[in-house]
Amino acid sequence: MSDLQFFGHVIDNEEVESIDAARFDVWNPWTREVWAQAAEASEKDVERAVLSARRAFDEGPWPRMGRVERAAAIHRLADLMEERADDLARLDSTNMAKPFAQAKHDVARSVWNFRFFADHQRDAVGEVYPMDSGHHTYSEFGPAGVVAAISPWNFPLMMASWKIAPAIAWGNTCIIKPSEDTPASVTMLGRLAVEAGFPPGVLNVLNGHGAPAGAALTADDRVDRVTFTGSSTTGKHVMASAATHLAPVSLELGGKGANVVFADADLDNAVYWAVEAIFRNAGQICLAGSRLFVHSSVYDEFMARFVEAAEALTIGDPFDPATKFSSLASKRHFDKVASYVESARELGGTIRTGGVAEDGSWIVRPTVIDGLPLDAAPYCEEIFGPVCVVNSFDTEDEVVHLANDTRYGLNAMLFTENLSRAHRVASRLRAGTVWVNCFFIRDLRTPFGGVGDSGVGREGGNFSREFFTEPKAVVMQIDRG
Ligand code: NAD
Repeated sequence: MSDLQFFGHVIDNEEVESIDAARFDVWNPWTREVWAQAAEASEKDVERAVLSARRAFDEGPWPRMGRVERAAAIHRLADLMEERADDLARLDSTNMAKPFAQAKHDVARSVWNFRFFADHQRDAVGEVYPMDSGHHTYSEFGPAGVVAAISPWNFPLMMASWKIAPAIAWGNTCIIKPSEDTPASVTMLGRLAVEAGFPPGVLNVLNGHGAPAGAALTADDRVDRVTFTGSSTTGKHVMASAATHLAPVSLELGGKGANVVFADADLDNAVYWAVEAIFRNAGQICLAGSRLFVHSSVYDEFMARFVEAAEALTIGDPFDPATKFSSLASKRHFDKVASYVESARELGGTIRTGGVAEDGSWIVRPTVIDGLPLDAAPYCEEIFGPVCVVNSFDTEDEVVHLANDTRYGLNAMLFTENLSRAHRVASRLRAGTVWVNCFFIRDLRTPFGGVGDSGVGREGGNFSREFFTEPKAVVMQIDRG
């Protein structure tokens, strides 16, 4: 009997094996050992999950439940998540080598996602349109149906909760397919939803690979909405697949964020956030500040301090409280990031610090590169690792052009003490989010998403309501004249 943990599908409030009993191995990237197995969904399991979610939507209590009652149920789930925060965080840390303190932070954010959307739908108001014709129109925001949610491995619990929370809060039923690299915490979330008393089929967890599981899910015409977070390449497949049955899609995709440090920036602050922006979560963040532009007059000073701060990060076991930085999430991903570092060297870049740890681990140390040509792949493409490519600039126009000269447009950062410049440049940057003198701060009421290859649509606050509901106009004759 194996002592590996097992993560099944959670369908109709039961944790089950796949119909054909297929499983896949789940790795611990720090120890480089298999520590668990998960159920591997085939099309038959997708069918089972879709039927469950469909039944729960068409016949079950959830979409018809009052707003207050539904909010209370979601808060019960959030309470359980808080009670079990250490367990949830331990799963993410084990599964992807995320430093435990950061995983705890992610759990707190996930709890907040549920609480926020529970209250947001409970307190929402519609719109009323008085008409001169003697009619009166009001809008209603009813649930859309069955939501297919597909999430990546870099914030396993947090990204999934960001999709599930608004979907179920607005009365939909949901099937979440977490990344095959990180099935653990989302499966536990499914178990907690059962414990919280969710009706069967409201939240189904389906474990498995992009194909066949994810692909079958997005192509299923009984699915009414597809919300996806992942790479731009997969996002295009997902959009094409959902288009076959005209399901609206929300795509949160890759990024190559520009981080601009002007000459008048508070350098302590700029260095602190530049480090956070590219080395937090070992750079496996869609919002990473992976292209850093520093004004030529402060370039040398900034680089010296940035390199020093990068080298000061404690690298180690994700469960050691001193650890700030650990290995990459999988061997496949380590190989990809390592090959970008190698190609940067070959293309003439100077590795100012970092590089691949040559000790058999899956660690790429915090890496800072400059001197790369602007058409080099490590400068243009999303590496999704702890690799920062730095360039200098002289004028505001020049740096706005450089920052916008990418097919991505998820986010950008700028550091300056000049208020006029901050407003002017923020407005000129082509990105879904611009942070001024900070990074990673989110208010869940605000739009979140990207332009270009970074995505389609926005989620957050009322933007999530637009996506996860079917707005309806009800026209009433008030006065027959
Ligand atoms: P990925 O695209 O490889 O996989 C994402 C998910 O899609 C996984 O669950 C995978 O199983 C599934 N999938 C794969 N092929 C599929 C298909 N044909 N149909 C349906 N589903 C399929 O991405 P990843 O490597 O897991 O995640 C990293 C990427 O995610 C990076 O590009 C990163 O920038 C992006 N990301 C974006 C955001 C954002 O908010 N914009 C947030 C986090 C990560």
